[in-house]
Amino acid sequence: MSGELQALIGLSTSELEELMVGMGQPAFRGRQIAEWIYKKAVEEIDQMANLPAKLRAELKKAYVVSPIEVAGHSHSSDDVDKLLVHKGDNQVYECVLLPYKDRVSCCLSSQVGCPMGCTFCATGMGGFDRNLSAGEIIAQYLMLQRLSERRVSHVVFMGMGEPLLNYDNVLKALRLLHDEIGLSWRNLTVSTVGLLPAINKFAAEKLPITLALSLHSPIDEIRSRLMPVNNKWPVKEVMSGMRRWHKATGRRVTIEYLLINELNDTPEQARLLAGLLKGVPAHVNLIPFNFVDTGYGYKRPAVERTRAFRTVLESRGVNVTERVERGHDIAAACGQLAGQHKGRFAKREGLSAVPSAS
Ligand code: SAH
Ligand code: SF4
Repeated sequence: MSGELQALIGLSTSELEELMVGMGQPAFRGRQIAEWIYKKAVEEIDQMANLPAKLRAELKKAYVVSPIEVAGHSHSSDDVDKLLVHKGDNQVYECVLLPYKDRVSCCLSSQVGCPMGCTFCATGMGGFDRNLSAGEIIAQYLMLQRLSERRVSHVVFMGMGEPLLNYDNVLKALRLLHDEIGLSWRNLTVSTVGLLPAINKFAAEKLPITLALSLHSPIDEIRSRLMPVNNKWPVKEVMSGMRRWHKATGRRVTIEYLLINELNDTPEQARLLAGLLKGVPAHVNLIPFNFVDTGYGYKRPAVERTRAFRTVLESRGVNVTERVERGHDIAAACGQLAGQHKGRFAKREGLSAVPSAS
């Protein structure tokens, strides 16, 4: 994409109507453009067949459809597609298409890198570059939809970055996914490391999406080792934010719980976690650690330890699922998105030229 051209993806129907009116066109042209980009997922202005050729030519002088392009595409043995994308610089990030029997889901990035520094996460290891715009977020969805014969009905913000650090753009992206693309609110999931003020603000928006908190330990001392953010907003405080979220939206909360061998996978922590969830409708999603060499020696627990943890929770009436991880062979599983095309843990600023689009 050439530098000065602006992207149409990311603009709402009313913004596209305004754009058309500003160009001396009737407002309905804006609705037609919205149809082409969000419903038909076209890639080029020239594909917008019901726009007059003159208007298309004029639009092309200042606009392109997408703000991003593909730098790499991998396909895993278990049918997961991962795209490496960028806007023409060396700031690359990733998104993943996950087809299941009953639905097709996708995992989007909200930032290039992440500044939160969790000690188990490849994204965190690479440092932080910048927030993604709403258009750059939605363009990931549309690129993945083009790869899928079936409708991509579910979106999780579990790619690179901390969504609530990029609050306004993520909120706009959620609204576009719902209002323009037509996805159901409940099929949209935002995963957060637990930024309390942003959770409170988000609760006040009353969007009936799914909010997932990455908890990873009910014990402050252990959670702080895993996630520096816990020093600022410890377990009790962040859980009070999740309660508020539930009260405001009526939605049960999701707790993500990464299991690291002999660190946070003990029966004692399962008991404490069950206690913490008393009185709040919740669902716990267990994620056995996907190996990333962050230098802390973390290991994935044996299946029996995961099962034992799960049993303690279930015996206390907690609703539990275990995440079925896919895409390991292309480093597309949770926590493995490093957004790097060479040398997984090279610092972001050390990146050299972007590979040519393939
Ligand atoms: N920043 C947000 C969302 C992106 S990470 C967050 O942290 O919640 C999405 C999920 O992947 C989080 O629950 C995160 O803790 C988890 N994750 C990170 N690294 C992982 C790893 N190595 N193995 C398994 N899960 C990991
Ligand atoms: Fe950022 Fe989430 Fe990774 Fe933590 S786990 S470093 S918040 S992407």
